[in-house]
Formats: sequence, C-alpha cells, structure tokens
Amino acid sequence: MSEFLSSRLKSLQPYLPGEQPREREYLKLNTNENPYYLSRMAADNLEKKDFENLRLYSDPDCTALRNEIAMYYGIDAENVLPTNGSDEALAFCFAAFCGQGAVFPDVTYGFYKVIANLLGIEFREIPLCEDFTVKIQSYFNAGKTIFLANPNAQTGIGLPLEDIENIVAENPRTAVIVDEAYIDFGGESAARLIRKYRNLVVVQTFSKSRSLAGARVGFAMANQDLISDLKRVKDSFNPYNVNSVSAKLALSALRDDAYFKKCTAKIIATRDRLVRGLQSLGFCVLPSAANFVLAEHATTDGETLYRNLKSRGILVRHFSDERIRNFIRITVGTDAQTEILLKTLKELTAI
Ligand SMILES: *Cc1c(COP(=O)(O)O)cnc(C)c1O
Repeated sequence: MSEFLSSRLKSLQPYLPGEQPREREYLKLNTNENPYYLSRMAADNLEKKDFENLRLYSDPDCTALRNEIAMYYGIDAENVLPTNGSDEALAFCFAAFCGQGAVFPDVTYGFYKVIANLLGIEFREIPLCEDFTVKIQSYFNAGKTIFLANPNAQTGIGLPLEDIENIVAENPRTAVIVDEAYIDFGGESAARLIRKYRNLVVVQTFSKSRSLAGARVGFAMANQDLISDLKRVKDSFNPYNVNSVSAKLALSALRDDAYFKKCTAKIIATRDRLVRGLQSLGFCVLPSAANFVLAEHATTDGETLYRNLKSRGILVRHFSDERIRNFIRITVGTDAQTEILLKTLKELTAI
C-alpha cells in the first residue's frame, strides 16, 4: 500500500475472484464458466472489418446489441443498457440508486459488499433462513435498495417469479435489483415485469449461459427512467463501456438460440448427474437452479476437500465465510469432467 492511497480505501477488502491459474492445466470447476465453446455461428460471424474497426471508438449506445436484446425479451431498446460485464451494471445500480443504502442476503455474491464499500454506500445484510432460502417477508418495506441474485450466488437456490414480484410490489418507493446471472439454468426471468413495475431492474450477463465470460458483456433491463439514470452514470464514468468486438459476439450469440438451448439443457442434465453422484458419496447438496452446486460432506470439511482436489488437478471454490465454510462450490462441467470429479471425490472421501 502506498502513502498515496485515499485513507477511505485503506481498509477496503477487494473482491477475491476465483483462481485463474496459468502455471498448470487444471480441471476448472471453480468460477462457473461454461464448459462449452461459444456458438460456432457467432464466432464465424466476426469479420476482418470488425478488427479494422477497433481503430474507432465503439458505439456509446451499443445500438445493435441493445436492439437485439430488446427483441429477444420483447421489450423496447429504451429498456436496455448493455454494460462491460454485469458487474458493471450492478456497480452502476449501486452508484445510481443507493442514496438510502442497500440490503442484500448475508450469503450471496461477494461483489455487492465490495462495491458498496468502494462507493461508500451503507448496507445491511439480511440473514438467509437456516436452510439457505430467502425469507421474502424480510425484504418487504426494506427502505433501502434491494439486491437479490436469483438464483442466488453460492447457494444456487432459486426464488419463484411470484416471490420476486411480491418483493418488488412491497417496495414501491425503493429500487429492487434482480441479478439473473444464472437464470438460464432453470429459473424464470423477471424481465417481463419491468413494464408493470417502475422500481425493478433486471441484470443479466453473457458470461455464464452464453460462454462469453472473457468478452465482458452484461446488461440491465428496466423501465425507461431507470435506464436513463443508469446511462447517466455510465456516461459519467465510461461512455464507450462495451468494446465493438465483444458487442458483436454477444449479438451473434443471442441469435444462435438453438445452440444456446442445447448447451443449457446439457448443463442442466449434467447437474442432475452431479447431484446424484455427490449424494451417493455422502454429500448434502443444496437444491440448485444454477450451473453450480454448493455441497457439504458428512465427514470431510470444505477446505480439506478443496485442497486435496487442487493437489489432484481439480479446482473448485471454497469460501471462508462462516455459514458456508464447510461447503465446496462446484461448477457443472461436461459429463466427462463430472465423472473425473466424482471418481476423485470418491477416493478422497473413502474412510
Ligand atoms: C458471475 C456473476 C456476475 C458477474 O458476471 P460478469 O462476468 O461481470 O457479467 C454477477 N452476478 C453473479 C451472481 C455472478 O455469479
């Protein structure tokens, strides 16, 4: 730490991303990336011209992608703001709507706390129930901007759309941000509710279900007034926030719906195999609607499992947070990767 760092930032705990090791090849099941490649059709759609155009600034309105997303969800272009990954959309929401502070669950995506601290926003964490579900009544009349990941990060547990709608309806005077990074793996998007509610922002990403984590594309969907507030933040921070190559890749990926559906269906089927396999090895697995599972073994603790798996070339995620420290979070890979993982876990948990 240098003497030049603002004193306000000296105690900041930055977000700790999952490992992206370069020193050796791991079976990577730690950061919820898609095991399948980007749609061939989307990749082949890039032309020489697109690389030449990198000379120019990208379209600050990201018009083509914005229109494509609007068409996909049956909304208007004015209801969409493309961003540099959905983390940026979430950061814009914190900057735009959290004058009264923020609330989110005690177990959720770690980035919320980090960005709130960076921006000096007060927040309160609302404990999940004993079984890690969200008690929706604890979000009624919250009086602060609500951030909910659905399905929730780390647990994978999804909330039915009626519950999301109830929370939105019970907070007419505060914004509700629904982070749908994992919605395509088994949840129902709240996108269609943005017409009915003026206080709802739905955030999605191309990183997980559309195999574009490295391209950094996400977006927010909301009523026109909320989107223009977010755009105000974007234009004050990074007007050309989405690069032109990534925008085109995302647009083409959205058009190849058949491939998208095939890949997500495969991941969902593999998730079921993974859950059954883990249960047969003595794991308790939280019910997941995402492309990962959070699992706790009857006798071996999470950190030991994480370390032993790593030494055998398999990366999973372990969190030291009190409530989930005994768990490991495993990304759903291909069937073949799942077999290797289960075989290794069988050896590691045998007594
Ligand atoms: C992965 C993830 C994101 C961020 O994804 P980007 O790559 O920035 O689009 C946002 N929210 C949750 C809950 C996530 O797991």
